[in-house]
Amino acid sequence: MRPSDALSQLKFRDPAQAAALREALEQLVGQLDHAPVSVMHVCGSHEQAIAKFGLRAAFPRDLDVIMGPGCPVCVTDVPEVDEAVALARSGVRVATYGDMLRVPGTSQSLAEARADGAPVEVVYSVVQAAELARTVDEELVFFASGFETTAVATAAVLLADPPDNFSILSAHKYIPPVMEIVAEMPGSRIEGFLAAGHAATITGWGIFEEFVAQHGIPVVVAGFEPLDILAGLVRLIEILVEVEHGAAPRVENAFPRCVTREGNQAAQERLWRVFKTTGGRWRGIAHVPNGNLRLRDAYARFDARKRFDIDPSPLWRHAPPKLVSQCQCGDIMAGIASPTDCQLFGHECTPQNPVGACMVSSEGTCKIWHQYGGHPDLNQIGRRAS
Ligand code: SF4
Repeated sequence: MRPSDALSQLKFRDPAQAAALREALEQLVGQLDHAPVSVMHVCGSHEQAIAKFGLRAAFPRDLDVIMGPGCPVCVTDVPEVDEAVALARSGVRVATYGDMLRVPGTSQSLAEARADGAPVEVVYSVVQAAELARTVDEELVFFASGFETTAVATAAVLLADPPDNFSILSAHKYIPPVMEIVAEMPGSRIEGFLAAGHAATITGWGIFEEFVAQHGIPVVVAGFEPLDILAGLVRLIEILVEVEHGAAPRVENAFPRCVTREGNQAAQERLWRVFKTTGGRWRGIAHVPNGNLRLRDAYARFDARKRFDIDPSPLWRHAPPKLVSQCQCGDIMAGIASPTDCQLFGHECTPQNPVGACMVSSEGTCKIWHQYGGHPDLNQIGRRAS
């Protein structure tokens, strides 16, 4: 059996079902009384699947599927990176995920601080960071990024009696409030959201009901295989057609094999026992009320911001590298620009030499488009291959 035959037999990558869903999508988009229709997903994993499987090339011409602020590394704000850099430069050992290493701060990334001799470690998980702390005598700070799914893991470690020399510098973010910001942005053309299935396994799909009621924008929770995404889009456009005929917008769960209305209540209990929401800036986007996750006072002893006198101000005396001012990551994450709108894309800015955060992370739109292409023309690719 050829590998491509095996691939085609995977239940959620079946070409015949994909073609049928694609046809249904074409018909539904044609039923709308306006064109084009723009919908947004808020997840790097969705963008990876869309790009990797060439789905955008198969979408109807009048369907615009935009990636929003779904890359946690990309939305980690510059002052948050500056805090981690300042800590490391002061001699405190900082551990973080590999993706965070090259995210630019005001004048330095953690990778550049490490090149200058600052103690920066790469870990694969918060558990590994806590284990690392057990093996050393000095203080170890975990620079924690990620959305609510990842914050649950951070909470679980803090609830499991971590060592005394371990603390957290939280840059965790909470997705639901930023959907409101994007929906309210002047000139926003987003008519529906495809919500991330993995985050919804924790939060449950019911969390989006209030958003839909307030903003009148439907939400469909979708998984990450090609058929999951196509089926989620079919449901979303079906709802938009029904709304045009007078139905109320609603939330639908197109990922029922993993997501329930209530979500994982044990995980939610851990998350909210350790974290609270606060307002804060998301890089390039806006101040997002309740968009940041910070440690509750009961866990202040593990809060690096309380434990250390962090002073990033010396970093602000240096001007940022010139090209950074041309980076359009913020517009891309707000859904009003594409990576190919940026003149630096693929030239001055590449995964090897990233200018902006969107080219650093494997969940960043620019890096994904650089790797797979954003709007691949599958006919051209087929012609080149034959
Ligand atoms: Fe920023 Fe680079 Fe993307 Fe341009 S290509 S928007 S500089 S990350």
